[in-house]
Amino acid sequence: MIGTTTHGTRHVQSGVCQAQQVTDALASKGIPPNLKAYVCTEVFNAERPILYVTRPDGDWCFLCGEEHPQDASAYRVVGINHPVSGDPTLEDVLDLGVNEEAERSAVGGQWTRSAF
Ligand SMILES: [Zn+2]
Repeated sequence: MIGTTTHGTRHVQSGVCQAQQVTDALASKGIPPNLKAYVCTEVFNAERPILYVTRPDGDWCFLCGEEHPQDASAYRVVGINHPVSGDPTLEDVLDLGVNEEAERSAVGGQWTRSAF
């Protein structure tokens, strides 16, 4: 087997490595890693994936896409690095503008963007 290379271990080293990548991805968009972001409780508890990202008045919201009560208890405030390090595919929407939203049907799926 000498000379055989395997490429299956690329994602084994996540953890610290990935956190640094996320910080870099955020920095490249001018976003501080501790910027305030809202997640719904399902996302906070890792019960549902993030399928809906929206920026009403510039606030970042990472939501599961289901209906939520109009109540602060349905949301948690975190640093923006938390949702992004949990799901690196969110880096694709870090250029979302104020009063824009992006939606997808599954993790890794195509984002559909719109303004509101
Ligand atoms: Zn939710």
